[in-house]
Amino acid sequence: MTTVRNNVDPAEVAKFDSLAARWWDTEGDFRPLHQINPLRLDWIRRNVTLEGAVAIDIGCGGGILTESMAQAGAKVTGIDMAEGPLSVARLHQIESGAEVDYRQATAEELAATESGAYDVVTCLEMLEHVPDPAAVIRSCAELVKPGGHVFFSTINRNPKSFVFAIVGAEYVLRLLPKGTHEYEKFIRPSELERWARHAGLELVESIGMHYNPFTREYTLGGSLDVNYLMYFQRPGN
Ligand code: SAH
Repeated sequence: MTTVRNNVDPAEVAKFDSLAARWWDTEGDFRPLHQINPLRLDWIRRNVTLEGAVAIDIGCGGGILTESMAQAGAKVTGIDMAEGPLSVARLHQIESGAEVDYRQATAEELAATESGAYDVVTCLEMLEHVPDPAAVIRSCAELVKPGGHVFFSTINRNPKSFVFAIVGAEYVLRLLPKGTHEYEKFIRPSELERWARHAGLELVESIGMHYNPFTREYTLGGSLDVNYLMYFQRPGN
């Protein structure tokens, strides 16, 4: 049974803690997150108005998406279980002027006290790092208001994603540190959609994200074979 605090893999959190200092180095270990951020932010903004929205970013890390949503006019809370990235995020916002409320908490913990409090819930590149992703999805569904919006992104699980997201990204192209991802924790779009549906969310749009090693650029669109994003709405108003 997943409780409010135990859906955390200490080894995963330690991994992100150890990399925290490099979070905002746009050419460093988190370069891919910096590169994809404008794309995912644009996609979110195509679907919802961030200006004036109350948003929460689950597994926010050093705050790359979190800050950009605040700069787009949302009132944003960022939660993560790793202390290092949260400290970096708090320092970085002093420099950038973005205003985010950063807290060390799990989605499950917050869902117990802040049910229905958010217009927008984002949980990007995080589900593949937790023991029970379905429980995180249920918490996101609780945190969002009726009529509100929930965005997830993760990595598909199939032979192609093993070759591209692990062999290619970590060993050949070295886009990410070795050991960043574990194949068994990848999530098929059908699984994510089913877990979300069981949590009461309705799928609005799925979109793939692709890396071109020749141009070294990412694009959105096309197949969900490797990286993908999914946008859900909670019915109601
Ligand atoms: N969402 C951010 C960072 C992704 S890295 C972005 O896309 O830019 C994954 C983050 O999830 C790390 O910061 C890690 O510490 C965090 N994380 C892992 N397990 C978690 C949990 N159970 N609860 C909250 N955060 C968690």
